[in-house]
Amino acid sequence: MSEQIKDLKKKLFYDNKNGALGADKAVLDAANEYCKGYMAYLDAAKTERLATNEAIRLAKEQGFEEFDCNKVYPAGSKVYLNNHKKSAIFAVIGTEPVANGVNIIASHIDSPRLDLKPNPLYEKNDIAYFKTHYYGGIKKYQWTTIPLTLSGVVVKKSGEVVEVNIGDDANDPCFVITDLLPHLAQEQSKRTLDDGIRAEELNVMLGSYPFKSDDESELVKLNVVNVLFEKYGIDENDFLSAELEIVPSFNARDIGFDRSLIGAYGHDDRVCAYPSLSAIFDAKSPARTAIAVLADKEEIGSEGNTGLNSQFLAHFVEDLAQMQGTLGYRVLRNSKCLSADVNAAFDPTFPEVHEPLNASYINHGVVITKYTGHRGKGGSNDASAEYMAEIRALLDGNNVCWQTGELGRVDLGGGGTVAKYIADLGVTVVDLGVPVLSMHAPFEVVSKYDVYMTYLACKAFFN
Ligand code: MN
Ligand code: MN
Repeated sequence: MSEQIKDLKKKLFYDNKNGALGADKAVLDAANEYCKGYMAYLDAAKTERLATNEAIRLAKEQGFEEFDCNKVYPAGSKVYLNNHKKSAIFAVIGTEPVANGVNIIASHIDSPRLDLKPNPLYEKNDIAYFKTHYYGGIKKYQWTTIPLTLSGVVVKKSGEVVEVNIGDDANDPCFVITDLLPHLAQEQSKRTLDDGIRAEELNVMLGSYPFKSDDESELVKLNVVNVLFEKYGIDENDFLSAELEIVPSFNARDIGFDRSLIGAYGHDDRVCAYPSLSAIFDAKSPARTAIAVLADKEEIGSEGNTGLNSQFLAHFVEDLAQMQGTLGYRVLRNSKCLSADVNAAFDPTFPEVHEPLNASYINHGVVITKYTGHRGKGGSNDASAEYMAEIRALLDGNNVCWQTGELGRVDLGGGGTVAKYIADLGVTVVDLGVPVLSMHAPFEVVSKYDVYMTYLACKAFFN
């Protein structure tokens, strides 16, 4: 009788508490192997510019060529479009006409960080600092007392672009934001956690030796600018035309005795960007045209001409449509999309923020998120039942371990993704991605198994 009941439960219940536990060793080994490439990508791609460069470099190795809207591409052609150096589109032309619709996976490659202010440099009590303005949702206290890298570009008036990366290389110096010692933090400790470190206290320490002189002010600052001038040929005015970001200096690391997890900066959302990229590299001759979009600015609302609230994806599809003698909107309304973004993994230390039935769990596979949003699904795409059924069938049919996930308890907070902007174009969309612990922290955690399942999901979707 008990066997019969077990069978009946297995047949009738939703049960995704198995995940990596039920996986063969071969699958876990494959996941570990796959994640080596992912970790290398993370180390090379700490900013959206670097993530774009590295993705295009990898794509060129796979035979992708720069898209030319005046060319007619036959089925099997592999093209990429570099969108203002901070986002990119990769496509493999399908054997079916694009009028039938295309398959899009959209992820983002910007991550929360600290940006330098336009006039960042100052000296106080003989120490030189950068003023910063944080980008995206961060817990500010997490960014103090960790090694930091300065990465980005400075564009001179002549148009010359100076690429800066100081801190990633072990031989480089790095930077730091100081915090108070506990002995003197009695007053600070009374602040709320949110207010523990304030935005205007996120000042990055740069140097402390003065420029040799007898009687001048701001000599430490002068010494720093002088180093920058000698090394990069830039002066203080050039910060106005720069995009310089402060990101953690440490690289991706295995976590745990069993090496089952990866700790790194910027999993959100390179942990979906990389699988979508490797999946499109695997799409040799898809029926429907496969498109992987790596977008910028998701963390601040997908704004600007590199974010998906702009038309760059629609325009690319329009080009494909014209190439085949149809109209862009006709392609888009028949198109399908996975909005590939992370979800908040259930954290056993903080169980109260989740509703356990609908939370996503580490090592239980790729997460399908029917809707995001906050307070009554505000700002959510909310995927249709029909599309959910299609995706379930696709994942089951390809042995992809998946789970469902909601972003935390109802009315506790919430979040959004690029899904709604792609839905705006008439495309059918659902969110899918990797569960993450410590999301938006300088060192986030994911499971290798889940990353691999996300790759398999992307691969199934494109084929
Ligand atoms: Mn994200
Ligand atoms: Mn995010």
